[in-house]
Amino acid sequence: MVKINKNYLKLPGSYLFSDIAKKVNAFTSNNPDKKIIRLGIGDVTLPLAPVVIDTLHKSVDEMGKQETFKGYAPDLGYEFLRNAIVENDFKARGVNIKADEVFISDGAKSDSGNIGDIFDVDNVIAVCDPVYPVYVDTNAMAGRTGDYDAATSKWTNVIYMPCLEENGFAPVIPEKTPDIIYLCFPNNPTGATISKDKLQEWVDYANKVGAVIIYDAAYEAYISEEDVAHSIYECEGAMTCAIEIRSFSKNAGFTGTRLGYTVVPKELKVDGVTLHSLWARRHGTKFNGAPYIIQAAGASIYTEEGKKQIKEMVGYYMNNAKIILEGLKDAGYSVSGGVNAPYIWLKTPTGMSSWQFFDHLLNEAHVVGTPGCGFGPSGEGYFRLTAFGSLENTKEAIERIKAM
Ligand SMILES: *Cc1c(COP(=O)(O)O)cnc(C)c1O
Repeated sequence: MVKINKNYLKLPGSYLFSDIAKKVNAFTSNNPDKKIIRLGIGDVTLPLAPVVIDTLHKSVDEMGKQETFKGYAPDLGYEFLRNAIVENDFKARGVNIKADEVFISDGAKSDSGNIGDIFDVDNVIAVCDPVYPVYVDTNAMAGRTGDYDAATSKWTNVIYMPCLEENGFAPVIPEKTPDIIYLCFPNNPTGATISKDKLQEWVDYANKVGAVIIYDAAYEAYISEEDVAHSIYECEGAMTCAIEIRSFSKNAGFTGTRLGYTVVPKELKVDGVTLHSLWARRHGTKFNGAPYIIQAAGASIYTEEGKKQIKEMVGYYMNNAKIILEGLKDAGYSVSGGVNAPYIWLKTPTGMSSWQFFDHLLNEAHVVGTPGCGFGPSGEGYFRLTAFGSLENTKEAIERIKAM
């Protein structure tokens, strides 16, 4: 008889956002006259840039003509897109990534979840705590995390690196040596980042102990400070220890359009085997390419016009972030993030739990945020607000929070 993957049964209860939706639905049905402002879920709200829409129209028309029709995309993705990525995201920053080290995909969530395919089940992973839940849950599905302990909200075989106010929300190199280290800077959920020098320490450490860093740079476009690396490959030695994952979702609003990429340098070897060859095999076998029209649209953000337009979008969100950050500071909250990321991370006041503060904010200000505990045990006592709303709603939400 068929057997299921029992690792799935070990995964703890329902997903954070469905619990939030239930609470919000209950509130709206009891208070139909109250206008809710959502500063919770990490999805963009601005429409796609004009250059992206133009390119989509054009490439749709190409698909309708015999001479320009495209079928399956090349395994790694279209060369025009990989070349644009290499030129703009890497060469422009002095990083020598080659076009055949870039794998185009349908997004960073799938890549960060799928990358585990090329690693043995016996590897020990280290994650920041709080963390983007995908890294942990996909490793749990693969059987790499041991058992879930509801009392501590931790997996028995995961190294947690607490990111708290005390350490500036930056992970500290753990006592136990991990094999795979997940890092995400600028960070979701804390909005924190680390300096290039600090990132260099991680790269040096990974090379020393023979670990691989999975570096999620989904929020690279939000970096505003000088000493922050846009790519891990700006650090010396990263080519031999790091895989970098990027997304078109948060910089260019492709959350519903789907496009991302993963870089696996050919220098990155384990026991003489290039991880590039394994990921190429995995990609070629299990993935049949992102749509041509979407890859064409993705390439358009690297034109002069495209760069200008997506910079405006990021600027719009970062203005919201500033309003939230400064508004909450004025109101006496202890807040961080919001400078290199569209996330503001606040400490719940007077020792409230994350969920108590969620209820408080929903009931008193009709504002929806995300309880920090949903991102890991060290997120308890914290709360995430996002800058992805409209300017008007963001301003109103902050006025309401101040008046609470
Ligand atoms: C939003 C987000 C992603 C998801 O990106 P997609 O390309 O839309 O799948 C990946 N990593 C982090 C940390 C994110 O916040």
